[in-house]
Amino acid sequence: MNSLDPRSLIAMGALMTVLMTAILVLLRRHYPPHIRGLGDWAAASSVWLLASFLFGCRGQLPASWAMVLANSLLLQGAIFYCMGCRRFYGHVRQWRLWAAVLLAETLAFSWFTYARPSFGMQLVVITASMLGTYGATLYFLLRHGDRRLPQHLVELVLGLHMAVLVLRLVTASAGHSGDNLLQPSLYQNLYVGSYVLTVLLLTVGAVLMASDRLTREMEYLASHDPLTQALNRRALAQRGAQELSRSQRHGHALALMMIDLDHFKQVNDHHGHLHGDAVLQHFARQAKAQLRRADTLGRWGGEEFMVLLPETNQAQAQATAARIHAALAQGHALDCQLSIGLATWQAGEDSLDAMIARADAALYQAKEQGRNRTCTL
Ligand code: GH3
Ligand code: MG
Ligand code: MG
Repeated sequence: MNSLDPRSLIAMGALMTVLMTAILVLLRRHYPPHIRGLGDWAAASSVWLLASFLFGCRGQLPASWAMVLANSLLLQGAIFYCMGCRRFYGHVRQWRLWAAVLLAETLAFSWFTYARPSFGMQLVVITASMLGTYGATLYFLLRHGDRRLPQHLVELVLGLHMAVLVLRLVTASAGHSGDNLLQPSLYQNLYVGSYVLTVLLLTVGAVLMASDRLTREMEYLASHDPLTQALNRRALAQRGAQELSRSQRHGHALALMMIDLDHFKQVNDHHGHLHGDAVLQHFARQAKAQLRRADTLGRWGGEEFMVLLPETNQAQAQATAARIHAALAQGHALDCQLSIGLATWQAGEDSLDAMIARADAALYQAKEQGRNRTCTL
């Protein structure tokens, strides 16, 4: 590792950063604007690219450029990255705090460049600032991020790089810092190599986080009804098939409800379609609130809904139906009356279609018997 030239490592890192910056800029242009943070991540990547260029040019440029500016840019990149994470999760950026951190680092670094030149102290200043910024980013992600794989990758990279930074601080105070950044040594190569990998993996992580978010949003749109946010018919059929095969495997009970809003056409006719839409939304909210996490509410079509109740017997399903009736009879302006047809899984060859047919027949009975009630078959 000693024979590796830090300048080549930096050049390699710069090349990868160019590609990642281009990808982030493209994503920012083409992803929906509500996926935030991509602009800040692209800025982080561009600034790191500039920093890599300045680091690589050391010796050919004046010290103030190659050292003070390059290190400030390195920190600025980390700050932009942190901002990107905050924006991605809908938080504000905290510009003032980070501007102060950047200013303090630049002043301290300049002091140890011009007033009291010391490579060791420069190293302490930049390493401590980077450690603080990455630490703040990691803390933010652990507290506010979602528990998804791309985010765990970013957390892991931040954690590992922070460990390298701590090692660098320790070795610097033990006098292993060398004379300058481009002098090949084990610690220098470890640090520069870790920096190059971190920049690459953090940008890869950002791209993955954004595409994971987009994929999940697409999946949600493809499986949910836009008006009521209940599952749509296709997703409902899939969930139903899954629940049925689980019941067949383990012999668990399964109940299915067909719910139809009573005289809904009159609601539309008397109050307009927008009011009708609001009634449907109110119904879905109230019904969902009466269900367990394992239960599923889906929109079968129009003003008809289906509920799947895994591991629920007939008596328990009837109790749930009673709660739904009650939740929509509390005097709210959007309350409505419903008829519910209930069917339970009858073991053996019973299929989803057969259960739906029984629930439909039960619903028909409920309508026949005067509506606003639950019937079971
Ligand atoms: P019943 O008690 O027999 O179920 O009578 P109903 O009036 O509820 O049933 P019908 O099938 O005659 O009418 C259903 C109405 O639901 C007709 C349709 O315009 C309305 N509808 C379906 N989807 C929507 C929707 O998304 N928004 C609104 N506002 N109305 C809808
Ligand atoms: Mg109907
Ligand atoms: Mg109806």
